[in-house]
Amino acid sequence: MSTSSPILIVGSMAFDDLDLPSGKARDVVGGSATYAAMTASVFAPVRVVAVVGDDFPEHVLIAMQARGIDTRGIERANGKTFRWAGRYDQDLVHRTTLDTQLNVFADFRPRLPESYRDTPFLLLGNIHPGLQLDVLEQVRSPRLVVADTMNFWITGEPTLLASMLKRIDVLIVNDEEARQLSGIHNIRRAARDILARGPKRLVIKRGEHGALLFDEEGVFAAHGFPLEDEVDPTGAGDSFAGGFLGYLATQSDVTPLALRRAMVHATATASFCVEAVGTGKVGVLARDEVSARVADIQKLYEFGASTM
Ligand code: AMP
Repeated sequence: MSTSSPILIVGSMAFDDLDLPSGKARDVVGGSATYAAMTASVFAPVRVVAVVGDDFPEHVLIAMQARGIDTRGIERANGKTFRWAGRYDQDLVHRTTLDTQLNVFADFRPRLPESYRDTPFLLLGNIHPGLQLDVLEQVRSPRLVVADTMNFWITGEPTLLASMLKRIDVLIVNDEEARQLSGIHNIRRAARDILARGPKRLVIKRGEHGALLFDEEGVFAAHGFPLEDEVDPTGAGDSFAGGFLGYLATQSDVTPLALRRAMVHATATASFCVEAVGTGKVGVLARDEVSARVADIQKLYEFGASTM
């Protein structure tokens, strides 16, 4: 841990109402920054910039601090915390957003504490792209900027999103978002189109199937870990991003090989998220559990030398 570089994460902190095949869960603590911070803190010190309302439980912030997460950048505003509601299909693959209430996010302007501005690794979690740009204005020469986004912003804020894309090193989206952003169905061609818009590298998540990395070396595939018990995929994408950047923060250089290893650590980390409702698992995740799952994922590819 002592050799890991700090990571700055900006994103949402939320209450989620989830309709899962196993039943309904209400007022579940979630949000892109929450999931990403909890998972990144498995690897490295984390600083969070976000806003919560006066209804957000203090014990969650205390639990985050106990995991080495610096919460001084989390503003507590008067009003209600951001709220999101979603319904999953029986297969847990497709989900429908039922409701998004920005609440305290509507007036939020991120203000980075001075001590956060030189953080070397930056994760612009899923949040209004205008706020992602605000944060980019306040940091001083980060080593790596990774950004996440979603359909809500792709359709709602295309111009600001386009400006954001020009200023980042890695964009992480899922396959549906990649198709929506590019207007191209074929994933490889969609990736080429998105890379031409600015990001130096692109990660396309494919749910239980893992994720693809497109970079200067070509394409790399990291398989998802086939789980026996899938409970709640909410936050798996943010946990992927947290694991990805968390692993990179343990490395001295962001090389193509380090990026490939980060991809496998990210799919391993995200798989834990799905095993419990909300942050039930990622809030207590340990590094050796991630390492064991990385080893299990590696076994998925071992098929000996090709004889053909
Ligand atoms: P994921 O399943 O990785 O896409 O992340 C789901 C989390 O993102 C939930 O905990 C939500 O609270 C949060 N979320 C959903 N919609 C938005 C949005 N428009 N902006 C920011 N966060 C969101």
